[in-house]
Amino acid sequence: MVASNLYTILVVDDNPNNLFTARALIKEYIDARVVLADTSTKALHELIKQPVDLIILDVHMEKGMDGFELAQIIKSRKKTEHIPIVFLTAACINEEFKKKGFEIGAVDYLTKPIDDFLLINRINVYLKLIEKERTMNIILQEQAEELKRAKDVAEAANEAKDMFLANISHELRTPLNILLGATQITKYHLENDKVLDREEIKMKSKTQIQNCYRLIRLVNNLIDITKIDSSNFALNLSNCNIVEVVEAIVTSVVEYAALKNIKIIFDTDVEEVILACDLDSIERIILNLLSNAIKFTPKDGNIFVNISTINDSIQIRVKDSGIGISEDEQNMIFERFKQVDNLLTRSNEGSGIGLNLVKSLIEMHGGTIQVNSEYLNGSEFIVEMPISKMSNDQITENGPNNIFSNVISKIDIEFSDIYF
Ligand code: ADP
Repeated sequence: MVASNLYTILVVDDNPNNLFTARALIKEYIDARVVLADTSTKALHELIKQPVDLIILDVHMEKGMDGFELAQIIKSRKKTEHIPIVFLTAACINEEFKKKGFEIGAVDYLTKPIDDFLLINRINVYLKLIEKERTMNIILQEQAEELKRAKDVAEAANEAKDMFLANISHELRTPLNILLGATQITKYHLENDKVLDREEIKMKSKTQIQNCYRLIRLVNNLIDITKIDSSNFALNLSNCNIVEVVEAIVTSVVEYAALKNIKIIFDTDVEEVILACDLDSIERIILNLLSNAIKFTPKDGNIFVNISTINDSIQIRVKDSGIGISEDEQNMIFERFKQVDNLLTRSNEGSGIGLNLVKSLIEMHGGTIQVNSEYLNGSEFIVEMPISKMSNDQITENGPNNIFSNVISKIDIEFSDIYF
């Protein structure tokens, strides 16, 4: 038996006895709703009132439309054209008559007097077909929704890429224009035998170097996200005291922050936490968070860097008293190519890939990053990483990078879009 309480069968016959028998039979063997109509007009009303899954339709009816006429109307209406119709007819009908019914859209003929077994058997067959069709429709609908979701994601990614290209072009063009301008001035002075004074040369070379750093930072970030995307970015892990590493980075930035009269206060609950990490990546992470904190904190502000441990993790918090980030914007700052300010209105430079790279590097260490912030009320970035060490045989032959080597030029690169 088809378990189909969900199905409705409409039986149309002008003979009340046939209706009664059909209902009793269907009710006994099939779990479906049965709706009866003794005229075509009543049948049409029932079809308007509710969805019907199968129609058992008498052809010869004394009053009003006959079964063929009713079937024609049913097949001509969008809402009912799909409903299978099984005609009930007298046994002695010719092929021509049957053909007419099939042309109208009937799926089957049953002859009167009704054979119980045949009727139930046919209804079961059609309900099973309807059930299959419904399942197929659900699957098709799910696939269509899935396709729509994939299309939306692809469109959003495409839009983000367009934004990114616009941002990157702007980011590349600005320092390049500055460098070109400086070179043209030098050329002009050389060609016209003019001499620049020492201070002017110093100022100009400072700007040129800063803009070279901006280009290097941008290209480095681009290379790294491309490597991460193609799984070609390998961490050079070594066991090191992360507290000492973070403190060294913070200390080397203090004098830069002082140029904006911003104080950086470092505090830690623990002196030593040894964990396996890639020093270059840790440096990039902390420098990026600090450079953003300095960039988005007005003069005379404060930045706090705190380290603590929770269970088997270390927490590094970088908190500033800067302009903050609104709740809406907090959701997008870790997404690639997304920048809170748009290209035309923003007041700070940046490609919008820094925090995305930071997030990827932290995740490669098994960690997480989140932000707590309120617009105009400062921001706090919380990095959490598991304290896991490497055994001696896991340590790579390259050996750890030296945290104290090149840190100044790395700061120059990371801070190159802040104007002190
Ligand atoms: P970029 O690579 O351009 O420096 P990031 O990915 O580092 O960009 O940062 C994305 C955006 O997040 C910034 O443009 C800024 O709007 C916002 N942001 C990040 N850090 C802070 C902060 N400490 N205070 C306020 N806004 C911030």
